[in-house]
Amino acid sequence: VLLALEGGDGAGKSTQVRLLGEALRARGVEVVVTREPGATALGARVRGLLLDPSPGAPAVPPRAEALLYAADRAAHVAEVVRPALARGAVVVTDRYVDSSLAYQGAGRALPAAEVAELSRWATEGLLPDRVVVLDLTAAAAAARREGRGAADRLDGEPATFHERVRSLFLDLARAGGSRYVVVDADGSTEAVARRVRAAVAPLVPV
Ligand code: C5P
Repeated sequence: VLLALEGGDGAGKSTQVRLLGEALRARGVEVVVTREPGATALGARVRGLLLDPSPGAPAVPPRAEALLYAADRAAHVAEVVRPALARGAVVVTDRYVDSSLAYQGAGRALPAAEVAELSRWATEGLLPDRVVVLDLTAAAAAARREGRGAADRLDGEPATFHERVRSLFLDLARAGGSRYVVVDADGSTEAVARRVRAAVAPLVPV
């Protein structure tokens, strides 16, 4: 079973991915917690290129960005996700295909169908069984990003960029049917964790 947690920067994905992994493990499920970008040796290098906040970092034009995320995803699926699924593990990934649709598609204004096709090719069509979209208003997410103070390439993006990303995630969920669940990411860590568990409970014992 492949579960993806998606959402904008500051929505709390990494915390919730970790908690969901722990909850599954506590139920005796073999679980692999992973993320994009950066889960493989190649991916770690690609992540460095994509997210280097230093002034001398190489420019990454939108189409190059889309290809680099696709390269990270291809390595992630081939080396981590498919082998784990093949041995029957539950895989919980912090970001997957929908992040590319949101950031490279809506955020960088690349054609949605082409970004989708790039991911389809990179993953050989592997889609999550469930996508949990952690949804937070742009203002609340911005406040959380400031609180964590991490320097990140996207911190310089205007609020409209993050708003486009958020509304694309919501559009994907609306159009995607039962594979998608939108979870309100506003609330205590434990309250959100309960919502996330409820969102995946039809598929895994949690
Ligand atoms: O989720 P995480 O913080 O590790 O993501 C790293 C950065 O990469 C974030 O700023 C995220 O918005 C960005 N990203 C992106 N396009 C993707 C995936 C992540 O711009 N497809």
